[in-house]
Amino acid sequence: MALTRNPLSRAHRQLCGALVALVGCSMVCAQTSTSAGASSSASSSAGIDYDAKIRQELQAAKNDAEFEFLGTLGRICLLPQSSDVDTSDNVPAYVADPSKAPARQTWFAPSAKVFDNFYFIGGKIHSAWALKTSAGIIVLDTIFTYNSPELIEGGLKKLGLNPKDIKYVVISHAHQDHIGGAEYLQKKYGAKVVMGDLDWKLVETYPHRYQTMAPKRDITATDGMNIELGSDTIHIWLTPGHTPSTLSYTFTVKDHGKPVNVVYSGGTAFNFVNKTPDPGIQNFQVYIDSQKHIAQKAAESAATVVISNHSEFDNAVNKNRMLAGRGQGPHPYEMGQAWVQRYFSVMQHCARAAQLNLERIRDANAKGV
Ligand SMILES: [Zn+2]
Repeated sequence: MALTRNPLSRAHRQLCGALVALVGCSMVCAQTSTSAGASSSASSSAGIDYDAKIRQELQAAKNDAEFEFLGTLGRICLLPQSSDVDTSDNVPAYVADPSKAPARQTWFAPSAKVFDNFYFIGGKIHSAWALKTSAGIIVLDTIFTYNSPELIEGGLKKLGLNPKDIKYVVISHAHQDHIGGAEYLQKKYGAKVVMGDLDWKLVETYPHRYQTMAPKRDITATDGMNIELGSDTIHIWLTPGHTPSTLSYTFTVKDHGKPVNVVYSGGTAFNFVNKTPDPGIQNFQVYIDSQKHIAQKAAESAATVVISNHSEFDNAVNKNRMLAGRGQGPHPYEMGQAWVQRYFSVMQHCARAAQLNLERIRDANAKGV
């Protein structure tokens, strides 16, 4: 059976109904029309009530998210799923012609000192971070080619830090919104670039796509690897799913001298084959297993802060504004261990809901309906 792409099936309309009930917005039906298609009689023919199971997962995600993680909930539970795996090798338009780069007002955000030794050096949508150690700076993710110089170099300078002190650039995954400044920082400052093996291979496989953003392979990250600099350590965890070798981290920062444990979630959206059961069902399982893995590491390290590389998921830009008026109040990033766990639970429930939809399609295909 062909995947449903045009008129909404009855099962899909039911799924939409469930989503609408959850979010109170009929837009959902139109938005999910290409991602949630399924056979109209699959549920009953397979003897599994997929509608009910999907509704249960979505409700669980909503319960865990409350208002804290609405961006994550919306992005991976409700909005159309991300585009599939990119296998093209074209030079990005903004690299071929820098005048095509998005206007500054669409991406600029001020840098911010978030903790005693941890800094936001990202933009409105995509984030980059700096951990200042006694022996130099570790940059976590870069941004695009066109805004890394202003946001990362310029951001560090505004905060009184010297970009020449950058010793490591750890890239969570090889998408252009995170690897854009890696080659630049490697060439200019001799920073060592760290990335997972299969994401290094992406860079090596698609020379045009990564033109001007292809650092040479320095360090290949493995699960449990530590990047140590001065008295600080970034613990790296492999969390494949978003890309084949997505990295996430746990580390400790200081707030007014007090240690605060942080978990960094390196990849969120479903940028893999996600609309066909084979290999979509397995892809979602890899993603879910990775979220369990990093949730466990977050628990073991008593993480009370979750950091992302998109403000959509951790509200970084808004929280930076709150920081300015914090005074002696609580730190806006510090949510406690239970909330950190709920973040990864939202991701697992959303992925499971999407996986269930593919299982329904698989069952319908097997029965030839
Ligand atoms: Zn990505």
